[in-house]
Amino acid sequence: MVRLEENKFYTAGKKIETLPLPAKVYIPTLQHLGKPCDKLEVKTGDPVLKCQVIATSEAKVFSPIHSSVSGKVSAITNWPHPVVGKSKAIIIESDGQDKQFVSGHRSEDEIKKLSPQQIREIVFKAGIVGMGGASFPTHIKLNPPKQITSLIVNIAECEPYLTGDSQLAIEKSKEIVLGIELVARCLAVKDVIIAIEDNKPEAIQAVQEACAKAGYAVKILASQYPQGGEKQLVKSVLGKEIPQGKLPFDVGANVQNVSTIYAIFEAIYKNKPLYERVVTVTGSILAQPKNILCRIGTPIKELINFCGPLKEEPAKIIIGGPMMGIAQFTDMVPVIKSTTGVIVLSKSESPVKDEDSCIRCGSCVRACSMGLLPCLMNQAAEKGLWQQAKDYGVLDCMECGLCSYSCPSNRKIVQSIRRAKLELNK
Ligand code: SF4
Ligand code: SF4
Repeated sequence: MVRLEENKFYTAGKKIETLPLPAKVYIPTLQHLGKPCDKLEVKTGDPVLKCQVIATSEAKVFSPIHSSVSGKVSAITNWPHPVVGKSKAIIIESDGQDKQFVSGHRSEDEIKKLSPQQIREIVFKAGIVGMGGASFPTHIKLNPPKQITSLIVNIAECEPYLTGDSQLAIEKSKEIVLGIELVARCLAVKDVIIAIEDNKPEAIQAVQEACAKAGYAVKILASQYPQGGEKQLVKSVLGKEIPQGKLPFDVGANVQNVSTIYAIFEAIYKNKPLYERVVTVTGSILAQPKNILCRIGTPIKELINFCGPLKEEPAKIIIGGPMMGIAQFTDMVPVIKSTTGVIVLSKSESPVKDEDSCIRCGSCVRACSMGLLPCLMNQAAEKGLWQQAKDYGVLDCMECGLCSYSCPSNRKIVQSIRRAKLELNK
């Protein structure tokens, strides 16, 4: 792991601001790891309410999708997608009234009586996925095939620039503790550790105070990248190595991102599906970088405008962190459930570097946080040898970006790995 320049100062400690309702939302039918929600519950011209289910699936691994505004479906069409380039999206024109489909909080008494299966069912119906970027359906992760002994709550937020998770931990620490209790009950686990890096003193204090009564441990880790990755975090917190091809449950661990925990709290206590999230919108050319609560489906252009004016034309816009994030080709791409940040970079911050041939220096191999052979995966993927790329461990790659970062030849290693993964998942 390495220590990177953090650049969190643009938004660190800035109160979460709510973005005004967008005029239109562009809600992709693919917002989870797995096949898209191809069973549409609405058609063009239909009126919709906020929280209404608009797309589901018959697949085993999926998470339903809800409308984030009330209004009318104006189109269902292919639209830019922040991860896969393009996907089907349900476009909804807001009526500005924000009328809700379901409402009503559950009573404390009802919540106390919920069984693990009932908690999972509510989490599923609320469309919750891993909000740290992984987007794996949470109800499945809450039903692991092996007994869990340790629950780790991930507030590492190790990517430079991003501050949404830590700000949420500062502002919603009590609710997060209630969410942790629900997850711990669901997994029948007593050992709960909140993992947080030492560069977030305000969040550490808030979480320590909120956790004191519940008796959950708070583990403060030296800030390093990519410590927020599940395998790295399990190693840092529990000292356990997860072998290649295995998952945290294989060593008795379950890792949940703090924003996901908060979404679970809201689903159970407020009966609220996942239709909005906190996004860090940041960069030196924004006049007012912010942590923003915004509706799923909002084009990032509106988030950028809310933080403007821009001091110069952006040279690059990244969704996610600068290491694991994806450069976008349009600012009309929408926020989805896994969008952690929008980073707007100037020309001087994102120089175009020509790709050279691999000089077999081994730098990427030494840098790889998963002990893989990035140069060989890159070569195989560039030749379209998907099976060979798989044999080299492409599916174990966590896309941390350290190989590309360390490559003197500016090889686009991560892009080629992502391409190979997409091909292998077809
Ligand atoms: S191959 Fe590259 S992106 Fe993948 S885990 Fe290794 S260093 Fe990270
Ligand atoms: S760091 Fe770049 S140049 Fe060096 S071995 Fe890896 S791919 Fe080749």
